[in-house]
Amino acid sequence: MCRHLAFLGPPTSLADLLLAPEHGLLTQSWAPRHQRNGLMNADGFGAGWYAPGHAVPARYRRAVPMWADSSFADVARVTTSTAVLAAVRSATPGTTPDEAAAAPYTDGRWLFSHNGRVDGWPRSVETLAASLPPVRLLGLEARVDSALLWALVQERLAAGSSAPEALAAVVQDVSARTTGRFNLLLTDGTTIAATAAGDTLCWRRDGSGTVVASEPSDDGPGWHCVPDGSVLTATREHVHVGPIASARTGHASAQDGAAQDSAAASRSSSSSVL
Ligand code: GLN
Repeated sequence: MCRHLAFLGPPTSLADLLLAPEHGLLTQSWAPRHQRNGLMNADGFGAGWYAPGHAVPARYRRAVPMWADSSFADVARVTTSTAVLAAVRSATPGTTPDEAAAAPYTDGRWLFSHNGRVDGWPRSVETLAASLPPVRLLGLEARVDSALLWALVQERLAAGSSAPEALAAVVQDVSARTTGRFNLLLTDGTTIAATAAGDTLCWRRDGSGTVVASEPSDDGPGWHCVPDGSVLTATREHVHVGPIASARTGHASAQDGAAQDSAAASRSSSSSVL
């Protein structure tokens, strides 16, 4: 299982967000604390971020461990952003080992990551793959289960689903055909959507911004972990957690009102254990 993180907040350097925290993504690449499968995440990494004046995010990916790329550390030191999605990878056997398979995947403003695996891929999901327009299959970023999940999410987004609806629908569609772990993470730089489906998912929202991550970056206060089977929608102001099942019918859409968001967030907080 990989580890991933998305951030929305005041301008923050990639180094402060990913490298400096005691248990941040850099440390999680060799010593994750809550990872349920796999020991470390040394098969590559990636970061995508939004820069002022550019609608399309920048992306930096490598096939080496995050700790082995001193050039990234130097660039991260001076690169600030208000919206970031990053991941460290533990490659699923049989998938592309190069940087094309490292998250985040992109399409226009979107950045996407998958933390998990599709058991029996690609056979187990061939009917879903066959339902995609050929151009989506031809456009897969790499030969990896995560790229197929991204194509399925893209198709839902293109058909008008909101981000949480698209993620929830894809988790349900794939779960109906096979087992696996389907923690998905998606942002357009304004909203974060994420699923907890087989692995850990936590969030924190405070003055330094909103972070949604596979696991807490530090032992500070304010972290909440969501129950398995949840879909989360986050902005700088609100975090909303609901069941994947109801997201598909639109009950957990990004358009939910502030009152509902706050109520849901505090319900999720009180039921969270960390
Ligand atoms: N299956 C994906 C890959 O191979 C994600 C792996 C993971 O979460 N460890 O990259």
